[in-house]
Amino acid sequence: MGEFVALKRKGPRFLGLCPFHNEKTPSFNVSPNLGIYKCFGCGEAGDAITFLTKHEHLSYVEALRSFDRALEIDPHCMEAWANRANALQLAGRGPEAEEARERARALGYKGTFI
Ligand SMILES: [Zn+2]
Repeated sequence: MGEFVALKRKGPRFLGLCPFHNEKTPSFNVSPNLGIYKCFGCGEAGDAITFLTKHEHLSYVEALRSFDRALEIDPHCMEAWANRANALQLAGRGPEAEEARERARALGYKGTFI
């Protein structure tokens, strides 16, 4: 998400100006460990897939491609595998989603899946 919104580190979180509404004081929070975001100004919240589909106006299939690209760069990125699993699930590709979930878990991913 850092490549779309300018974020400043604040403890374990990142804070920045919300891309979903106009504001002068940053209220857009990102928790990279959890892979989620939340804006305390407009209430917009979600995970990496929601962010890509809402902010970048990508379809799940396009979001999936962006996670594939991330995995080409780093095939050991558990977040990318987890995001890929969720995108596959949303795209109705269950067996592939399960495969991606297993890869994410094998790399130590402890978060939840869709
Ligand atoms: Zn907002």
